[in-house]
Amino acid sequence: MQVLVYGAGQLAQMMYLEGCPMGIEVHAVDVKNEQVVHPVSKQVIEISLAHAIANADALTVEFEHVPEHLLEQASRSGKLFPSIDAVLIGADRVREKRLLTRLGVKNCAHQVVTHIDQLDECVEALGERLIVKASRDGYDGYGQWRLTEKSELPALKSALQGLDLQTVPLVVEQMLEFDREVSIIGVRDKQGVVRVYPLAENLHHKGQLHVSVAPAFNITEALQQQAEAIFTTLAEGMEYIGVLAVELFQCGEQLLVNEIAPRVHNSGHWTLSGSDVSQFNNHLRAVTGLPLGRCNSHRISAMINIIACSAFSSDLLSIPGCHLYWYGKTVREKRKMGHINVTAENYAELGDKLLALSEYLPIEYFPKLVSEAKRLK
Ligand code: ATP
Ligand code: MG
Ligand code: MG
Repeated sequence: MQVLVYGAGQLAQMMYLEGCPMGIEVHAVDVKNEQVVHPVSKQVIEISLAHAIANADALTVEFEHVPEHLLEQASRSGKLFPSIDAVLIGADRVREKRLLTRLGVKNCAHQVVTHIDQLDECVEALGERLIVKASRDGYDGYGQWRLTEKSELPALKSALQGLDLQTVPLVVEQMLEFDREVSIIGVRDKQGVVRVYPLAENLHHKGQLHVSVAPAFNITEALQQQAEAIFTTLAEGMEYIGVLAVELFQCGEQLLVNEIAPRVHNSGHWTLSGSDVSQFNNHLRAVTGLPLGRCNSHRISAMINIIACSAFSSDLLSIPGCHLYWYGKTVREKRKMGHINVTAENYAELGDKLLALSEYLPIEYFPKLVSEAKRLK
């Protein structure tokens, strides 16, 4: 079988690697030049995109910001999973908020802004601690601005001056005082079967994910069930097929949706070593019509992103249960170069292993690692 993935980054690469043992051949599309490439070597494959689409059993995406004309072409084949509508919801915060409202899924107080002067109304309605998000093309905290007090409003307005808000509106959210960030990742197949992984806890730094721990520390059964209910409502509401990720804020015992990602997700990378069947494997199964695998966790896992750094000792692999996933990219600021999965029998052991790991890494690039290790111990 063949699967064509729009986007040629690490997520397509990990789908490729998981497809190999199942006899699923994954090709990637570099959406900038519309060429078909090998997901690992990135070498161009001499086949037209139209041919690759015709040859594929399923088409899917590794990120939501795929140019719309390509999504439309993919959708016309009848083989795009998740659907174009689901991808476009994930790519556009206005559509996303509309979906959450339609399905009655709780999220944080917000307003859509199409003219800069509406920001004054936002402060009136939502308070002066705000997070302003471009409705399209944002990721890893790009395309966001923060307001911490009213006096900063003129500066914020001038920072936003050049934007065409009629075309790409802003979504202005109340800055939440959440207890922590978690995510629920699951999969829905073509028969409507839904399976969900345990909640992961996610630690961010400057708007970017640094560490995930799964199952999240101290999660009650009720909270897991609440997350699963949110997941099922969204997946069924979109008639979703494939892996879907839902980022959540935990406020006490209440979960609020931050955003959804219509694809495999960074906070699900732990599944490569901590679950019987990874998110990549399950995604391929869902989009090709194969039976889904278990979404369990057989160990406690941590996933550590390697961001903007390539100089460290591979001797970290001497730590039992430590796995390195390298994406083969050149270093750039904020760029995800790879990740490390660490598995353990319990949280205290995981804490010990993360402390051991910190000895092998240039710690300035891993600002969350030592504090997380100490917390788990
Ligand atoms: P991603 O790479 O996950 O797609 P993104 O650029 O789409 O990121 P968000 O997930 O919307 O951005 O926000 C990035 C981070 O900023 C969140 O994980 C959270 O830490 C913080 N954040 C976002 N919205 C809020 C909010 N309303 N209140 C408080 N913090 C927030
Ligand atoms: Mg996002
Ligand atoms: Mg996010």
